[in-house]
Amino acid sequence: MASEVINEKLPRLVTELPGPKARRIIESDRRYISPSYTRPYPLVAKSASGAIVEDVDGNRFLDFNAGIAVCSTGHCHPDVVRAIQKQAEQLIHMSGTDFYYEQMPQLARKLETLMPDGKSWRCFFGNSGTEAIEAAMKLARYATGRWQFIAFHSSFHGRTMGSLSLTSSKPVQRKGFGPLIPGVTHVPFGNAAYLEDVVFKTTVNPSEVAAIVVEPIQGEGGYIVPPPNFLPQLEKIARTQGILLVADEVQCGMGRSGKMFAFEHFDFHPDIVAIAKGIASGMPLGVTMARAEIMTWEPGAHASTFGGNPVCLAAALETVRLLEEKYVANSAKMGEYLFAKIERMKDQQPTITDLRGRGLMIGVELVSSELRDRILNECFRRGLLILGAGRSTIRLSPPLIIDEEQADFAVGTISDAIAAMA
Ligand code: PLP
Repeated sequence: MASEVINEKLPRLVTELPGPKARRIIESDRRYISPSYTRPYPLVAKSASGAIVEDVDGNRFLDFNAGIAVCSTGHCHPDVVRAIQKQAEQLIHMSGTDFYYEQMPQLARKLETLMPDGKSWRCFFGNSGTEAIEAAMKLARYATGRWQFIAFHSSFHGRTMGSLSLTSSKPVQRKGFGPLIPGVTHVPFGNAAYLEDVVFKTTVNPSEVAAIVVEPIQGEGGYIVPPPNFLPQLEKIARTQGILLVADEVQCGMGRSGKMFAFEHFDFHPDIVAIAKGIASGMPLGVTMARAEIMTWEPGAHASTFGGNPVCLAAALETVRLLEEKYVANSAKMGEYLFAKIERMKDQQPTITDLRGRGLMIGVELVSSELRDRILNECFRRGLLILGAGRSTIRLSPPLIIDEEQADFAVGTISDAIAAMA
């Protein structure tokens, strides 16, 4: 009898979903874990490699979400694992707040070379996206002596009190937590004229605004690409008014959009850049980069015990090397491939109302959130992991390593799932 040929790059389901071990863990999770998490379907992960995640019952899934746009080099890339292991054997923690270690300036120097403007930049290291934004907000206030911020509808910048005050993606994220920090005004994403002609003429005195905080391509809001002149117009307003520009590249950065930073798709030159998610392939690291003349706060002004931990920095150094070597280019190439395939699917599927994105950051808009949620579940049952964003968007944010066979599988599965809903 011929033995079954297993394709290591594609899913393989061996139990009903969730399987027996997954069900036990989910029960325990329900009892002990904060119910604030949102789990759209019952995946209980055990191990992962590349773009494949295996659950506790031995089912293998194709991951088109990458731990929410984090595992840029794929799961457990052997070079990243080696870098982590080597660093863990030498030095796990020292606290860069009070001591020096080489990896801090090493990564900062590397990141400066990635900035397209050729200027001098400095880095502050935290552990997450929200911390990168908190540091950006504090630095903007400190550097300008101003206290207000402009942020955008549908934006997501994190969930700690400062970043939450900027976040405007879903009411549930803010409900019950007010009052948030004062001085944040939200304006429509993609409409710079509204800021200049309405907000600055009626509500906010621009001379009190420290920074405009913007995702160059919105993430949680539904993978929304702004019109090409939006960011350049914001920059013009900011320069006229002495306002700093903060680019939140937490989700759209580190190659996800097909360029190292999403702002590079536009004629846009931020003063501060917040990075996290994809920078360290899953190790917790947040970076607030600022032009050197802005990041001049005094010792003691800001710090973090764990931020920029040597193991996370080692993972980031290796991740950046791999991104530069091949995966940013693969993100651009496979992004185009995937986009074109979904565009063809859209022509056949009236339930898809919009398609947008750059690189491997693709949003597929459906007619309703209810249909979107059913499709996420149906794809899970067929071995494909995807998540939603915005109101009724399917977000595709696979590891930047995927190939055509995996893209074909994902599009075929989404198409079949949509057809199964009819
Ligand atoms: N900024 C953006 C654009 C994000 O997408 C996120 C998280 O999704 C954050 C900030 C917050 O990052 P973290 O969850 O690591 O705090």
